[in-house]
Amino acid sequence: MRKIPAILINVFFVGMLAACSHAPTAPAASAAPSIQAVPAAASTVILISVDGLRATTVGTGMMPTLDAMAASGVRAASLTPSYPTQTFPNHYTLVTGLRPDHHGVVHNTMRDEGLGKFVSKGETALDGRWWGGEPIWVTLQKQGGIAATMFWPGSEAKIAGQRPRYYMNYDKQMPANARVDQVLAWLDLPAAEQPRLITLYFENYDVAGHATGADSAESIAALKYIDAALARLRDGLRSRKLDATTNLIVVSDHGMITVRGEDVRYLDDLVPADTFEAVHLGPLAGLNPKPGHVQQVEKALIGRHDRFECWRKQDLPARWHYGKHPRVPAILCQADPGWRVVMHGIPESKKRRGEHSYAPEAPEMGATFVAIGPDFVSATQLPAFDNVDVYPLMAHLLHITPAANDGTLAPLLPALRDATP
Ligand code: AMP
Ligand code: ZN
Ligand code: ZN
Repeated sequence: MRKIPAILINVFFVGMLAACSHAPTAPAASAAPSIQAVPAAASTVILISVDGLRATTVGTGMMPTLDAMAASGVRAASLTPSYPTQTFPNHYTLVTGLRPDHHGVVHNTMRDEGLGKFVSKGETALDGRWWGGEPIWVTLQKQGGIAATMFWPGSEAKIAGQRPRYYMNYDKQMPANARVDQVLAWLDLPAAEQPRLITLYFENYDVAGHATGADSAESIAALKYIDAALARLRDGLRSRKLDATTNLIVVSDHGMITVRGEDVRYLDDLVPADTFEAVHLGPLAGLNPKPGHVQQVEKALIGRHDRFECWRKQDLPARWHYGKHPRVPAILCQADPGWRVVMHGIPESKKRRGEHSYAPEAPEMGATFVAIGPDFVSATQLPAFDNVDVYPLMAHLLHITPAANDGTLAPLLPALRDATP
């Protein structure tokens, strides 16, 4: 039995995270046994993320290499992101199988009573105390395998006592082809040193999408640039005769929507700016009322507005599995797709032409899942499934026992040649 009931996970994590939010990150409830040899028959897994790639882009001809993989391998109608539809929470969900409320990376920008402020682009991302649960590279290494990360949120931090055997500090400037060449170089290592799990990350579409819009010429060029890197990877695997033993999984963390600068609403039009502290603004605003202003802020904000809705964290829709973690701000305001919740005098977010962080069920937020390799059946389309299910899938492919998680292999069974869990 690989999965423990969600209710047990909830009770465990809420208790643990509430108790330990100031302490070094404790590992998730782990079903993993002590070190053992990984069966030789298990294939290599390369998990590739194209940040922001909408499910609906697959099959349109904009990424011919990815389209070919989807046509001859497995493709999901959509990979449903976890809430909030942001880069750090969802990348970490993909590799832990835990909802953000359970792994603790609840947003790209967070506040923790003991740890202070987390920003995804800063040094705090290297501090393991922010990262709960057990990423797949730790699960694999605990069971005797070797992992490598060619970038992935969380991979530079020591989590549950370890980092991937091979990892790189995030460098946006590193060209996509150079990232692919590093992956291939790891596969050229002597057999005893080769990684069995490799992650590979591309931000180019997300960057272009924010700056110029989801469907701009620049964004389409970014898709083609990434697709060329995918082609280089596939060629490199073929020339090494590794394609028959390597499973490739291409995912994204969320989708992308084109937005207009004027489509904003101002929190401080509803309640004075000095009555609350905004932790984050944009498509999803999170804020904490200042002492003595709780009732005033709640009265002004809680409920439905014309382009957004605000909830107390404990009252968020249950389908979002969000709001229990102490790092989630007291009040969340979720904008409708295309809109943003901002404040006067903070101009930065209004410059953006593309956004995510909208409700996971918005069709434009639907993320990508494409997989091909020896363990996957051919030419199969799956219905949409949740991104918490990618972790148990990888554990299955790697022949290792997953740690406790929120996912299930069930939606993937029709895609697997050997579906014996
Ligand atoms: P956002 O669009 O704000 O959700 O964040 C996406 C950005 O996160 C990308 O454009 C990347 O530049 C950045 N990013 C991705 N991985 C990492 C990482 N490991 N460390 C720091 N920043 C990252
Ligand atoms: Zn992202
Ligand atoms: Zn983004």
